[in-house]
Amino acid sequence: MSELIAIYPGSFDPITNGHLDLIRRASRMFTKVVVALTDNNDKNPLFKLEERRQLAEKAVAKHKNVEVDVFSGLLVAYAGKKKARVLLRGLRAVSDFEYELQMALMNRNLDRRIETLFMTPKDSYTYLSSSLIKEIARLGGNVKPFVPPVVEKALKKKFIRHR
Ligand code: ADP
Repeated sequence: MSELIAIYPGSFDPITNGHLDLIRRASRMFTKVVVALTDNNDKNPLFKLEERRQLAEKAVAKHKNVEVDVFSGLLVAYAGKKKARVLLRGLRAVSDFEYELQMALMNRNLDRRIETLFMTPKDSYTYLSSSLIKEIARLGGNVKPFVPPVVEKALKKKFIRHR
């Protein structure tokens, strides 16, 4: 059987249980899932690329067919380099849809061999976002139910001196 490789791109600042739920589901469908962290965005991340990479690596360690990587430049070019035919994106609510549709259509225009696959997380994770988690952690709230333990620890460390 030929390899079926999927790329799951994003900023993962930081990785949450919502991301991990998608990764777990995808790891059962594909031979390999590459969680691909990007740095070329205007999002002013809380965690440096290397920190985000390490957190993601620890969080996915139990999935043997999941790899963490970083990339810059065009996503379709990166997908080609990794021999991946599928781009995974998560859809939580209608609010995600417009931007995701635009990206998917543009990526198809850039390389028609690559398909975007949208997945939905477990219902209790649909309201989860990295930005919300950072806000809760910054304000001293409990993020334990929403992120893996390594991320909870890293968030505590980031914000401890600001309180
Ligand atoms: P980006 O900056 O590319 O949006 P994110 O790290 O915020 O990167 O998200 C990466 C992907 O994961 C996106 O497709 C996003 O919709 C999806 N995602 C984020 N949070 C969740 C969640 N709680 N459940 C499912 N998918 C999610």
